[in-house]
Amino acid sequence: MATDDLHDAELWPVPPAWLLACDQCTLLYQRMTVMRDAVAEAELTTLPGVDHDPFDSGLSAQLALGQHMAREHAELLPDFEPGCPRCTTCREDLGRPAMSDGSIGWAVTAAAEHRARHLIVPSAMTARL
Ligand SMILES: [Zn+2]
Ligand SMILES: [Zn+2]
Repeated sequence: MATDDLHDAELWPVPPAWLLACDQCTLLYQRMTVMRDAVAEAELTTLPGVDHDPFDSGLSAQLALGQHMAREHAELLPDFEPGCPRCTTCREDLGRPAMSDGSIGWAVTAAAEHRARHLIVPSAMTARL
């Protein structure tokens, strides 16, 4: 269906092969998809306007996977995407002069965790976090 093009930004990406080759990634990825499906199910079966994920369990599962990927697989993460506002912010943070030794570390970590998100969540969600 051609109309599906409109929703490309909301499609969940297929994880890369190296992600599924790592036991820890696979575990965290499965946890994330279980949360995602549970939230999607709730959206289908409850009234509009209800918060389907009041504890942000889906988001915390995504962040746990992103943190692991940033820590263990930094060299495999994609580069910043030119059209992504959050990538632009990360790049600017990295370009700032360090205030003191190591103060740029948080920016490196934040940037890696965000780049990881490009592999695991729809592009509509990477713009925000
Ligand atoms: Zn891993
Ligand atoms: Zn980005």
